[in-house]
Amino acid sequence: MELDYLVLAAHPDDAELYCGGSIIKFREQGYKVGILDFTKGEAATSGTTKDRDSETSESNLLLQPEIRQNLSLVDSGLADDEVTRILVVNFIRKYKVKVLIAPYGPCRHPDHTAVSTLAKNVLFFSGAGKFPSEHKPWRPYRLIYHMEYQDIKPSFVIDVSDQFDRKMKTIEAYSTQFYTDTNKEEKTLIGSQQFRELMISRFKYYGNLINCKYGEPYILEETLRIDNPLKNRLEG
Ligand SMILES: [Zn+2]
Repeated sequence: MELDYLVLAAHPDDAELYCGGSIIKFREQGYKVGILDFTKGEAATSGTTKDRDSETSESNLLLQPEIRQNLSLVDSGLADDEVTRILVVNFIRKYKVKVLIAPYGPCRHPDHTAVSTLAKNVLFFSGAGKFPSEHKPWRPYRLIYHMEYQDIKPSFVIDVSDQFDRKMKTIEAYSTQFYTDTNKEEKTLIGSQQFRELMISRFKYYGNLINCKYGEPYILEETLRIDNPLKNRLEG
């Protein structure tokens, strides 16, 4: 099997938080999506790895990724090192990933920054002939970065208005981590009601930039080619 998209995520729930709406939309468009979680989130203040596993299974019912694998690396200890690069390059080559999605760094959480740096390096090494791997070289067509909390202009925004309710349900599946109707403990910043409201207003803001209700923002390091500006008419 080949994958159209692969989301690289430091912790279970990162894929949902930052690109859950896009994943659901890609699946609706008929594309194959994979998620590679790097850790089980064992360093989190709340919840056990067993909780996180069952929360991920619940979220997968809505995201419906073709594959979701966990590398079980050490939470809060991620690094762009040789061992991790080999694991990720093997995965990319095995499934001939076309588009790689990773966090745009530097990020607040050092693990996210490590995944961001690693993503750029594996994009190169996955296509390098002599990189130590059990699979033949294969380089994704493109690396796109999902934005976290940087105050910068996104390169593009994906309209996730029709997917937003389901995205929120995938986040609520992680009931040990986030503020929900059944978990109002507010033990951490991300578990607070304020964080939930902040998150919703951010996706509304990015939706507003493209004249829709909710949007997920992305960054491209390269310039996007447009050959016919007439076909890229501004909405509204
Ligand atoms: Zn995370």
